[in-house]
Amino acid sequence: MPDMDKKRKLCKKCLLSEIDEGEVFLQIKKLIDIMPAAEKCREDEYKRRLGICKECSFLNEGTCEACGCYVELRAIKKDARCPHEKRMW
Ligand code: SF4
Repeated sequence: MPDMDKKRKLCKKCLLSEIDEGEVFLQIKKLIDIMPAAEKCREDEYKRRLGICKECSFLNEGTCEACGCYVELRAIKKDARCPHEKRMW
């Protein structure tokens, strides 16, 4: 039986509770890095969006409580919108 307290590298069948938090960060960064440039918004827009998220009460440990996404992954997408009913960005 696997030791549930031991954190491991990300795999297809992993639950977040089983994964090392640093590994989650690296995977998200990797997804952003490999995203085609044409799908990404401009750097200044990305920073603007994340600045708004930083001030938002829905931000919780890198995720958005309005939709459950990782905000850095959502904000990098050119056509993405803030899921909040007030559309903060
Ligand atoms: S509701 Fe919008 S501004 Fe707030 S954390 Fe989510 S994506 Fe960011």
